[in-house]
Amino acid sequence: MSSLRLDGRVGLITGGSRGIGRATAEALAEHGAAVVLTAREAAVAEARAAEIAANTGAAVFGVAADVADPAQVSVLVRQVFGRLKRLDILVNNAGVMPEALLGMNSEEAIRQVLDVNVAGAFRMLQAAARLIERSGGGSIVNVSSIIGLRGGVGLSLYAASKAAMVGLTLSAAKELASKKIRVNAVAPGFIETDMTSHFSDAKRQETLGNIALGRIGTPREVADVILFLNSDLARYVTGQVLGIDGGMVA
Ligand code: NAP
Repeated sequence: MSSLRLDGRVGLITGGSRGIGRATAEALAEHGAAVVLTAREAAVAEARAAEIAANTGAAVFGVAADVADPAQVSVLVRQVFGRLKRLDILVNNAGVMPEALLGMNSEEAIRQVLDVNVAGAFRMLQAAARLIERSGGGSIVNVSSIIGLRGGVGLSLYAASKAAMVGLTLSAAKELASKKIRVNAVAPGFIETDMTSHFSDAKRQETLGNIALGRIGTPREVADVILFLNSDLARYVTGQVLGIDGGMVA
């Protein structure tokens, strides 16, 4: 019988130090996967991995990697395969959210954001797909955003990057299906993490008014959907973008 259990599988989560990535690492570990999580600082990644391992009893490793650096991405993926001998799951979660009106985005900001959110996710998917194929197939989940589907004032650069992840997901799902790799995306709405902690009370109230469920989401509520998409319960699901937004209406 199919289940959410991931025993015997290896999952790699980028940006697993906090927020949605950390909650995803916990969810996968609780369900039996061996997990590798990344952060840009080795000490941060290792400390977070040790915490999750202690809480779940799973094998959890923390590795330093900046997804904006192609060399670090290839070292990361080789390290994972070298240490754990397989790769079944990639969660492309690392991301940044700059806020600026359209005309205020500098060349440097454009390059930086696209390099992390788009090129970083792209190169992670490229590198991981080869190893997932060698492991007999598996699943990739890209963490996009409701902003990539609907847009937002002051978020044009972020929206462009998150929309690109949707195109990547749809194409990779078609291309990798023959290799037994499913590729899906999630589009979270307003989730309480470091990324959104600076939002003013006025902005929170305005956003809450657009959420049918009437509350902000938690990282674990996103992680649980990512867990489902990576599990055998979702074995016939690929090329989908699943909203996790409490019913956002604007
Ligand atoms: P967060 O708490 O700010 O965490 C961001 C994570 O990304 C951190 O682990 C950070 O690692 C990592 N990261 C940033 N730049 C990186 C880089 N160049 N290389 C490697 N890792 C990098 O944010 P979050 O809210 O959990 O966001 C996670 C994902 O969900 C993002 O892709 C975000 O766009 C998406 N999302 C969030 C929301 C929301 O409302 N929070 C809504 C929709 C989508 P370090 O420890 O190295 O900084």
